[in-house]
Amino acid sequence: MDITDTTEEQYPAAIGVYCDRCGTEERNDFIVTDSTTREQRFEIARAHLRETAGWSCTEAGDLCPNCRTADTWTITPDSTRLIWDADIVAHCKPHYGTNPDTGLIEVDGLTIWPASSTTGERVVARFGDTITLQADGRYTVHHATVEG
Ligand SMILES: [Zn+2]
Repeated sequence: MDITDTTEEQYPAAIGVYCDRCGTEERNDFIVTDSTTREQRFEIARAHLRETAGWSCTEAGDLCPNCRTADTWTITPDSTRLIWDADIVAHCKPHYGTNPDTGLIEVDGLTIWPASSTTGERVVARFGDTITLQADGRYTVHHATVEG
C-alpha cells in the first residue's frame, strides 16, 4: 500500500490477534484509515506477527510462538487443521473414517509418520487423543479413554 498516495486521514488503531491454541492475545497499534476494512486490519496485524514475532497465521488459524513449537497437542477438528496448515508435524495427513452418526466418510484425526519420512510405522491420532513429541522427533499418541 502506498501511503503517500492518499488524502485519507491516517490514525493508529489497536488490533489484537488471539492464539487459537492458548488464547494469548497480541495487540499492537497499526496505522489505518477509515477505508481499511475490518478484514484488512486483521490481515495487517497477522502479517506483522508472522514477520516479526514468530507467529504462524494460516487459514486454519493463528498460533503464538509457544504454541507453534508446542510438543503436546490434543487432536480436535480445529487442532487438526492448525497442525496440518502450520506444518507442526513434519509428516502427517488427515485421517478419514466413517462417522457412526451419519455414515459419511469424514476426517476423524491425523495420520503421523516417523519424523524422517513417510515410510515406517505410522500412527493414527483420532479426535480426543493427545500426541506428544519425543526427543527422537517421533510423536507418540495417548489415546483418549474409550467409551463403553
Ligand atoms: Zn498460544
